Amino acid sequence: MSENHEHFMALALEQARAEARRGGRPVCALIVRNGKIVGQGLNSVIADINPNAHAEINAIRNACAKLDTPDFHAVSLSGSTLYTTLEPCPMCFSTTILAAKIKRVVLGARHARVGRKDLGDYSVESFLAFIKHNDVEIVTGVREAECEELRLEWLQSLSDEQVRLELLRSRASHDQGGENTR
Ligand SMILES: [Zn+2]
Repeated sequence: MSENHEHFMALALEQARAEARRGGRPVCALIVRNGKIVGQGLNSVIADINPNAHAEINAIRNACAKLDTPDFHAVSLSGSTLYTTLEPCPMCFSTTILAAKIKRVVLGARHARVGRKDLGDYSVESFLAFIKHNDVEIVTGVREAECEELRLEWLQSLSDEQVRLELLRSRASHDQGGENTR
């Protein structure tokens, strides 16, 4: 199983690196069920001008679009594993990953270790404890160093224009009562 985790996280990392080379945000999420990738997503917040378009949400939407039933709640993505190169934020984790009945979340970089300040003491574990929910397995430490490195490299490479866009988006997000999606 851990070999599978390494394999799928490596694929996610590959896509995240390719996205960074294209000038996008280096976050990729994959949904895997029965050993097969059934959904994938990149962060498209800027491209789609959509503060909700995080990689995890895009991956789940991509997988759900392929379900052959119109009843999302009847099938959902139960039994699936979500791989993500960056720890899911509270929005992705609470309203999408848990709602989609994802069984296991395998995450790479952690917010606390890449200097993210706007989420305070948030972690997926603290959030699960807060809502008293233990139906989802959390797997950490899979290619963690590479995921952290990619994140930190991207943060250091941000141009003035990117920073300007970040600030504009952050202000817009706060004005809407949303969260800073970086
Ligand atoms: Zn998110």
